[in-house]
Amino acid sequence: MHSDEAVPTDERESDPIPLSALQHAVYCLRQAALIHLERMWAENRFTAEGHVLHVAADKPAQRKVRGIRRVAALPLASKRLGIAGIADLVEFHGDGQVPFPIEMKRGKPKLHRADEVQLCAQALCLEEMTGRDVPEGALYYAETKRRLVVPFDEGLRRLTEETAAKLREIFSTFQTPPATFRADRCRACSLLELCRPKASAKLARQWRDRMVQAALAEEESAM
Ligand code: SF4
Repeated sequence: MHSDEAVPTDERESDPIPLSALQHAVYCLRQAALIHLERMWAENRFTAEGHVLHVAADKPAQRKVRGIRRVAALPLASKRLGIAGIADLVEFHGDGQVPFPIEMKRGKPKLHRADEVQLCAQALCLEEMTGRDVPEGALYYAETKRRLVVPFDEGLRRLTEETAAKLREIFSTFQTPPATFRADRCRACSLLELCRPKASAKLARQWRDRMVQAALAEEESAM
């Protein structure tokens, strides 16, 4: 195990955060809150393809391939991190007891670390559930039809734990973070039409300016 940091009891006992929320949170914390807290969802081509891929992988099954035990659709949870979900596929390497999670993804490897964080969160669940270290896993991309091996190093573990902590904060306070428009991120976002980040940011600025003007006017009238 790589971290013994304790989570307060009240947080551990609340509903677990879905593993997929970590992937959304790395991409955009607001997106994660809109989907998992406010239950907004908009399908675009990217999410539709991902959904088809996961439906295909979501049939529980266990078999051996070239001597390696493989379990599909394995339920996972970490009480310490307050997260839970289902692994697409887990192989058991080494002596047949070392979990090796594999997450199926549409498209190809991305520049951000969202997919790696979701996979690492699965590894942290598996470590807590099995008591075995999980040193690496793999992302399988439908477009390249290749496995990309991901080592769970300290940096990735830290990022994963920090992301889970941010989500616990959002879930416990029910506060959706405000929108911040970033062209590289927002243009591919399935929630662009619902979120309207440019308009939201403008409205937030207008509201803040009105509040400042009102406070100044109140101060002046009190003098
Ligand atoms: S449109 Fe942009 S700010 Fe809004 S949820 Fe998507 S990525 Fe986040």
